[in-house]
Amino acid sequence: MALIVQKFGGTSVADLEKIRNVANRTAKTFDAGNDVVVILSAMAGVTDSLIEKANQITDTPDKRELDVLLATGEQETAALLAMTLRSMNYPARSLLGFQAEVRTDCAFGNARIVNIDASRIKEYLGDRNIVVVAGFQGCDPNGNITTLGRGGSDTSAVAIAAALKADSCEIYTDVDGIYTTDPNICPKARKLKKISYEEMLEMASLGAKVLQIRSVEFAAKYNVPVHVRSSFNEEEGTMVVNEDAEMERLVISGITCEKNAARIVLKNVPDIPGIAAKVFTPLADEEIVVDMIIQGTRTEGKNDLTFTVPRKDFKQAMEIEKRVAEEIGADEVLGDDDIAKVSVIGVGMKNHSGVASKMFATLADEGINIRLISTSEIRISCVINEKYAELAVRALHSAFGLDKE
Ligand code: ADP
Ligand code: ASP
Ligand code: MG
Repeated sequence: MALIVQKFGGTSVADLEKIRNVANRTAKTFDAGNDVVVILSAMAGVTDSLIEKANQITDTPDKRELDVLLATGEQETAALLAMTLRSMNYPARSLLGFQAEVRTDCAFGNARIVNIDASRIKEYLGDRNIVVVAGFQGCDPNGNITTLGRGGSDTSAVAIAAALKADSCEIYTDVDGIYTTDPNICPKARKLKKISYEEMLEMASLGAKVLQIRSVEFAAKYNVPVHVRSSFNEEEGTMVVNEDAEMERLVISGITCEKNAARIVLKNVPDIPGIAAKVFTPLADEEIVVDMIIQGTRTEGKNDLTFTVPRKDFKQAMEIEKRVAEEIGADEVLGDDDIAKVSVIGVGMKNHSGVASKMFATLADEGINIRLISTSEIRISCVINEKYAELAVRALHSAFGLDKE
């Protein structure tokens, strides 16, 4: 007998029929003698439509109230699944984030899990219940409902699996595993049997939304093997595990693209100590996450400072930087919100040269202009115009020999 955590994403619980499909799968695992904890997302599209409703009231909804609203999506599916299972004569019980004692910090909309007291879940399991937990939500030290950022129920699942020391954590979604790139963009993408935490972390942080980045951080930290698979068939999916010798032979293991980015340029910033802190601290204060930062050297003690932010924060970041520019004496602030970042990723890159030049040549062959470049030990990213993002992904996928036969 094993303790199994199963997470089902939005498309897997999109309607009552799909919820019944989830119930059947869960019941089968339970009937095999396992303890089962199910983590659910909201029905596909529900979180978006709740955000949309809030935005009809105001552009800047109160963050606490927004989380109260967004958490209802997962409350709905958790109750519906528990009800479905009970109607099938299975002893199921739903728990909301606070009832499952998922404790987070106070960052509404993007809260981090601080700890999970799994005793309540264990108590229910001890009474041989199927425990259904609403994903994506937790509770801060003041008892407020918080949410974990978009795609956050992946993190709920892995964190609960870690807290329970579960034998496995299965992430059921609308693709049958992790591919070399998004199979919905590149039909030639190949399914991977396994991928290292390190590479998955890069893929997730660079736009492969199949797993939320924090879920991969949790999995790596607590050594939770994660099995990403389809909720619509029985095929084996992809295991996300520790790196092994076999994986290192691949130079490039994946390509990602992140579309929801924006670029901001401060022109002619004085080149003196303290300027970068003045530019970036007000963004951090508003919890705006800055991604790439490039400082160009210019003449006469002035620099251009370029950086990227999530597109949802673009307007606010521009307003902030216009104020900063005046304060520090920069000439002007420019911005564009039609950029995307494409990246090639691979642990094997550590020991190979020529990856960057091949990437640049491939983009050049397609006539795609590179606007920013950044690298780490195991990835290279280029910022390009968003309209070429999918073309770039397909071209790079072929160029690096990842296309399936
Ligand atoms: P869920 O609702 O189940 O959480 P998501 O939409 O969040 O599902 O994530 C699954 C999606 O991730 C897929 O439909 C696919 O378009 C996208 N995706 C991006 N990159 C990859 C990749 N490398 N492998 C598999 N899927 C990917
Ligand atoms: N429902 C939330 C979202 O759409 C969380 C999730 O699906 O993981 O972002
Ligand atoms: Mg998701």
